[in-house]
Amino acid sequence: MPCWRSFIALICLAIIVVVITICQSFHTNFLTVGRNGTLRYEPTELNLGQMRMIAGLSDPENLRKNVQRIAIKRAVSTPGHSEVRNYIVDYLKKLNWNVELDIFTQKVPIMSNVTFHNIVARQNPQTQRYLMFGCHYDSKYFKDFDFMAATDSAVPCALMLNMATILKHQFHRSQVSLMLVFFDGEEAFGEWSQEDSPYGSRHLAELWEKHGFLDKIDLFVLPDLIGAKDVVFKKNILDTSGWFHRLVQLELKLFQAGIVRSERPLFKFEPGIDVDDDHLPFTRRNVPVIHLISNKYPAVWHQAEDVEMNVDYNTTEQVGLVLRMFVMEYLNSAPSISNTLK
Ligand SMILES: [Zn+2]
Repeated sequence: MPCWRSFIALICLAIIVVVITICQSFHTNFLTVGRNGTLRYEPTELNLGQMRMIAGLSDPENLRKNVQRIAIKRAVSTPGHSEVRNYIVDYLKKLNWNVELDIFTQKVPIMSNVTFHNIVARQNPQTQRYLMFGCHYDSKYFKDFDFMAATDSAVPCALMLNMATILKHQFHRSQVSLMLVFFDGEEAFGEWSQEDSPYGSRHLAELWEKHGFLDKIDLFVLPDLIGAKDVVFKKNILDTSGWFHRLVQLELKLFQAGIVRSERPLFKFEPGIDVDDDHLPFTRRNVPVIHLISNKYPAVWHQAEDVEMNVDYNTTEQVGLVLRMFVMEYLNSAPSISNTLK
């Protein structure tokens, strides 16, 4: 009997240890950012007044105009590609952002040598740390049809430009700033493989690791495949699930305050399966990432029907609003360097 009692006590103890470990890991994820989770973060929630103010700045016409300018044929090395690149660069320069190009040439299948251009825009280039958003601006080449790639990823890029416009007078802090990256060459030239896939993000992550710049990224948010009515985001990266939960909560607060009327949650705190994308070269280097890719791929994915006309702007606006709330909450209460974990 004493033996059984000890055995049961041991099992109970093991269960308690497992539960505490799970709780602690969730808590720690929620509180840390930065490469290798080196910064402590305590988000200060936006109050209702701040939320209404940010929502009041929304500019759906600007979003539509940006989607229309980007959702054209823009496979790497085509005139449409340069047109979109110049549009993004000029747009952000006019808003007084610091814009730089990361240019490199690489051999790719089918086309031999190709020159890529990543666009890196920083709201404040003097700052020590960044909240980074990324999207890819190239479109996949299909020989049988014209591919405008609205959801893949003209809409995510347009959301980022729209955010820069709407929040232009809201950026006050100097210690942490917003960085927008427009990756080139996300699409494979042939079949997706380790070698024939995200060219731009692979190059940038490697370059930034060499220069120590990866350490300046608090968190990287990667929106992709957005624009369909049935878009839904799930918790697909466990390490940043606490951060994803903030998005879920912010959307709920927008419903409760009556700021968003649809009340159909697009951010769901349910397990999702992550897929390959521009974030992988960064996650491999321990940069925390929120991958906002629709859990259900758009029905028009990689088809001729993925055009601006088929974008559902009500849903897309809802995504944009939640992201803007998230950015403002982050920038308002971002961790200070003195909070670095020992
Ligand atoms: Zn694609």
